[in-house]
Amino acid sequence: MYDDNNIFAKILRKEIPCDKVYEDEFSLFFKDINPQAKIHILGIPKFQSTTFSEFLKKADNNIILSFFKSVQIVIDHLNIEKDGYRLITNSGENGGQEVPHFHIHILAGEKIGGLR
Ligand code: 5GP
Repeated sequence: MYDDNNIFAKILRKEIPCDKVYEDEFSLFFKDINPQAKIHILGIPKFQSTTFSEFLKKADNNIILSFFKSVQIVIDHLNIEKDGYRLITNSGENGGQEVPHFHIHILAGEKIGGLR
């Protein structure tokens, strides 16, 4: 069950601010408040889903495609494709997910260490 009071839902409703990197009809990308690398961006779909699996199962294909295309738009915008980057999505308790709104971490700008 999606919890409408999670932090990212509040960011989407503009109830709390974020350091925005990119936004379109379906997605919002912003800087992580506690960066684990020189570049640490969070990408969230505007669609209400708790995890990656729920997003893939419940969202329409155009929303899913748009979200993942926008990940690449941000990668291009940050100019990190050549040097490399890491995409992470944590899911559920065993995955260590803290915020229950599906999101992707984009980590870059330096060699990314072990699993976080
Ligand atoms: P998770 O562990 O759920 O995959 O990651 C949640 C991420 O959200 C963490 O990296 C954490 O630093 C970040 N975060 C938590 N609260 C806020 C917030 O209010 N603003 C921003 N920009 N990031 C947040």
